[in-house]
Amino acid sequence: MFNKETFKKSVKDNVKTLYRRTLEEATPQQVFQAVSYAVKDVIIDDWLATQKTYEQEDPKTVYYMSMEFLMGRALGNNLLNLMAYDQVREALEELGFDLNAIEDQEPDPALGNGGLGRLAACFLDSLATLGYSAYGCGIRYRYGMFKQKIENGYQIEVPDQWLKDGYPFELRRPEYAKEVKFGGYVRVEMEPNGKMKFIQENYQSVLAIPFDMPIVGYNNHVVNTLRIWDAEAINNFQLDKFDKGEYHQAVEQENLAKTIVEVLYPNDNHYAGKELRLKQQYFFISASVQAAIEKYKKKHSDIHKFYEKVTFQLNDTHPTVAIAELMRILMDEEGLEWDEAWEITTKTCAYTNHTIMAEALEKWPIELFSKLLPRIYQIIEEINRRFIMEIQQKYPGNQEKIKKMAIIYDGQVKMAHLAIASGYSVNGVAKLHTEILKNQELKDFYEMMPWKFNNKTNGITQRRFLLHGNQPLASWVTDHIGKEWITDLPQISRLKVYADDEKAQQEFMNIKYQNKLRLAKYIYEHNGIEVDPRSIFDVQVKRLHEYKRQLLNILHVMYLYNQIKEHPDMEFYPRTFIFGAKAAAGYRRAKLTIKLINAVADVVNNDTSIGGKIKVVFIEDYRVSNAEMIFAAADVSEQISTASKEASGTSNMKFMLNGAITLGTMDGANVEIVEEVGEENAFIFGLRSDEVIQYEKNGGYYPMDIFNNDQDIRKVLMQLINGTYANGDMEMFRDIYDSLLNTKSSERADTYFILKDFKPYAEAHRQVEAAYRDEKRWAKMAILNTASCGKFTSDRTIQQYVDEIWHLDKVQIVTEG
Ligand SMILES: *Cc1c(COP(=O)(O)O)cnc(C)c1O
Repeated sequence: MFNKETFKKSVKDNVKTLYRRTLEEATPQQVFQAVSYAVKDVIIDDWLATQKTYEQEDPKTVYYMSMEFLMGRALGNNLLNLMAYDQVREALEELGFDLNAIEDQEPDPALGNGGLGRLAACFLDSLATLGYSAYGCGIRYRYGMFKQKIENGYQIEVPDQWLKDGYPFELRRPEYAKEVKFGGYVRVEMEPNGKMKFIQENYQSVLAIPFDMPIVGYNNHVVNTLRIWDAEAINNFQLDKFDKGEYHQAVEQENLAKTIVEVLYPNDNHYAGKELRLKQQYFFISASVQAAIEKYKKKHSDIHKFYEKVTFQLNDTHPTVAIAELMRILMDEEGLEWDEAWEITTKTCAYTNHTIMAEALEKWPIELFSKLLPRIYQIIEEINRRFIMEIQQKYPGNQEKIKKMAIIYDGQVKMAHLAIASGYSVNGVAKLHTEILKNQELKDFYEMMPWKFNNKTNGITQRRFLLHGNQPLASWVTDHIGKEWITDLPQISRLKVYADDEKAQQEFMNIKYQNKLRLAKYIYEHNGIEVDPRSIFDVQVKRLHEYKRQLLNILHVMYLYNQIKEHPDMEFYPRTFIFGAKAAAGYRRAKLTIKLINAVADVVNNDTSIGGKIKVVFIEDYRVSNAEMIFAAADVSEQISTASKEASGTSNMKFMLNGAITLGTMDGANVEIVEEVGEENAFIFGLRSDEVIQYEKNGGYYPMDIFNNDQDIRKVLMQLINGTYANGDMEMFRDIYDSLLNTKSSERADTYFILKDFKPYAEAHRQVEAAYRDEKRWAKMAILNTASCGKFTSDRTIQQYVDEIWHLDKVQIVTEG
């Protein structure tokens, strides 16, 4: 139980023991550390109680395996879930500190790129809150997602030193370290009983050391564990090697340990095929699978029933080596036959597909794969051999099927095929996405094993993105409908009766205004730009990617600016266009788009002749902590991906929760958002997914026709190559111009249908403006968006995973007192 006086004493004691200082002398960072250690003390009791309950009740456990966990800050979220936020705020006030300022001292643990990693974080929050036994399994990257600096309009990547001051919410657990082996070769031995034994020899190995982070459930004393693995060299081996004079190999092992967890690959929805990446994958998977088996064997003697107590959810194909690693341990270490091991593995592993984009599909060259993971490769070869036999049985003589579905083909190991052939469940992440998987991308697999396919529309946790991120609105909601929404989001629909209530409308929009003031202050402090909090805050924040079409957004801003310049007296409601986006470090066109946004911002923001009607803001270093503030302040949520390309999207849900209105295409979960809120409460435009797919089958379309026939679009495009936004430099943005029009390269022109959707997008913006002018109409729409987002809680998503895939047992924690 939380006690304010004990807590205050604990903070003071911590500053003393950690830093040999009094509270008055401590730096803000030191106060943050002292406070966090005091909070961790409170968490540890529940953590132990949870552990004890799990040991007694022995519930089935999900291991959520993910290369990425985009956690965001832990302090404030932990306090809210512990029901201690207000008391800690008071305790700190009494000690002379502001909790918000102390929260700002915490680095964002940014061990993920974007949506996929944030989904994993939301899932852990929901699993703990719903009372399910779960581990997150991942990598403790020494450097997480890079920090983004904007210099002269360009993105600069700066290393993210999130561990520099030490991270208080992690616990090193060296007693659970595991050895992970790479390279060498496989020697086969015949045992006296005639069984073959496979022994990996002449390998290099790394020691995997787990760091555990507590995942605090909301108001239920459940504390689950996120287990992320660090790498260390195996030191006793090293001494041994020195003795034998194998200096070189010892140093190599040392280097392997140092490099393996060094940095998160900053690619979102894009496969790079680097050997180090495969090393990272096998490193954390081997350690996690070993740990899961070891834990199971502590309580259970029959390994054949492993799947009754354990399930592995593979977050995209990145952790797919888990399938072969489980087979390896079951056969080579537990002594099972192939068929026994296969039965267990195929009942343990389930796979989530996150994208249909070809450039994101993981394919490893056989040469690289078999050299790094020789035994794992043998096992995958055998899985492939048997799978091909199955295909032949089902489709006799059909070579085409084998070509399209084999796990190993054309010199490559296809990880998605391995996951589908070996898993008991394959799910997409939104209705539309799952339908596209079944009917297009994975059609052959769906026809062969339709029972595996299912949909789990993504969700987000309302506890971080409303309760923590927008405290004024959270209080308002609770004042009107009680606090059940915190753990039962569909209850929020009870706000619908207030949609037409003038007082409620005014209060709701006043809270939005206060949040806009807060963001305006942040923008002024970080960008030096003054924005009008009464203007429409039109926001697009997400990873920078061509398919997400930030380019469409900024081209439209250029068009609006032209309109105002040409017709100075035209009616125009002031607009603030807010962008936030990191581009992968090697993604040139994405980085150039950031430069274009900043170049347009420079010109437009400083043109006094337009009377501040348009402001453009690029928020540096978009991440979970500033995201929370941005969603709270948004009027319009830009979700404008090329239809069929965005598997789900989750920021669309975070905006909706905070009363922003979607301006978007019929893509990903936007489709379901519109289903929930009604078409009249969103602004939908553009090509539909089936139209996009049809165009793609026909080799694209002719953007030049649009360029020739539409002078507004032509003018905007010409401004990319006449120096308007580049101080006369006509080459700076030529690549973007070419990408939209030119067919000279092998690339199709306007692959993402930007010109095709441009005018419908502009028309949708006119409708936004008209709706915003009608204050009551807008307030009603905003309230209805918040009130209609019940479906999009990750609590619902997790309950569906539990009911339809994992079949976990629910647990209650009994605490003393
Ligand atoms: C939710 C979230 C994302 C995912 O955004 P999408 O618009 O769904 O791609 C990415 N980054 C952060 C920091 C987020 O909070």
